Amino acid sequence: MDFQELKKKDGAYIAGTYNRFAAEIYEGEGATLRSEDGKEYIDFGSGIAVNSFGVNDKEWKQAVIAQIGRVQHASNLYFTRPQAELAEMLCGKTGARKVFFSNSGAEANECAIKAARKYSFDQYGEGRYHIVTLKNSFHGRTMATLSATGQEAMHKYFMPFLQGFSYADPTFEGIRAACGDGTCAVMLELVQGEGGVVALDPDEVKKTERFCKEKDILLIVDEVQTGNGRTGTLYAYMQYGIAPDIVTTAKGLAGGLPLGATLFYDKTEHTFSAGDHGSTFGGNPVACAGAVSVLSRIDRDLLSEVQGKSAYLRTYIGRMPNVRGVSGLGLMIGVEIEKNAREVAERCLEKGLIVLTAKSKLRLLPPLCVSKGEMDAGLKILNEVLSE
Ligand SMILES: *Cc1c(COP(=O)(O)O)cnc(C)c1O
Repeated sequence: MDFQELKKKDGAYIAGTYNRFAAEIYEGEGATLRSEDGKEYIDFGSGIAVNSFGVNDKEWKQAVIAQIGRVQHASNLYFTRPQAELAEMLCGKTGARKVFFSNSGAEANECAIKAARKYSFDQYGEGRYHIVTLKNSFHGRTMATLSATGQEAMHKYFMPFLQGFSYADPTFEGIRAACGDGTCAVMLELVQGEGGVVALDPDEVKKTERFCKEKDILLIVDEVQTGNGRTGTLYAYMQYGIAPDIVTTAKGLAGGLPLGATLFYDKTEHTFSAGDHGSTFGGNPVACAGAVSVLSRIDRDLLSEVQGKSAYLRTYIGRMPNVRGVSGLGLMIGVEIEKNAREVAERCLEKGLIVLTAKSKLRLLPPLCVSKGEMDAGLKILNEVLSE
């Protein structure tokens, strides 16, 4: 099947919810991908921050294949080793007390929303269910997480949305003004990903944390995209110096397999008990085995490599023509340009570089293991396209 046939088949049978780029991803190594007809791409996208160690990573493959050879799924009615091992590892590395596993970012956030409401119900009774999120945020595509998403453009067609959400300006004053007696939680991304790779101001975040603690409003940090080493610390909240009550993550956690995790810290550790929440696939042993392989390698050395690669990419991109500014943290990089981002991304693709967009910016999310050679090859193409 050549590319034109593939495109035709996809268009005929797949619900048209995606405005796909004109490339087939077939195989690859690290941050170098190939289509079946042999065209090569440098990957500055990681499948949207998912393939933490690129593709075809030996250690990850071994861990996943070994688990597939034992049992691929057991359900949460029984005990499995990879799940317990991963939960222990997540708690050990973060100070979290308990973990709930699901299959995606949206589900990890659904779980956080349910937990925040239950925590408040347990402490204060009915009515204290309001959750404040930020303008320009993105928390997922399910009904509850769409309701939590602070973008007007996403709040159409599917009415009624879930009630109990409001959207604050991304400052302490904005958040405080949006909180009332009925507020049970504030939920935020520390670097808004889909919203344009915008990092929040650490002082505003610290003040928000203090205010939330005073009012017993839970602080939920959505680390679906920022998590698992992406921003140069294991989780972005660690470099903001805050202690959240709930953290959600997914994308890069299992290195390419669907896995979501909701982390509960001291205050929320006992919020859920048997029957309060569940998932058939959540915490699938193959996905968990992949995640153990990923997490066990996100150590101090790797994180300092991520920071070094970030500085390298940012320096070179900052000097390119038609670049207005570079935003983000670690290997989550936004590039504000004088050109149309989608057109630049399409042109890069033609020349063999995969980049993403976020709002009017380019968004770069290379695998954490991207090599110097791959970075240089990608930068060369980006520079050519931006110079055109
Ligand atoms: C991608 C993303 C989500 C949704 O994750 P899915 O796995 O697509 O459900 C939620 N929050 C943030 C911050 C994200 O980047």
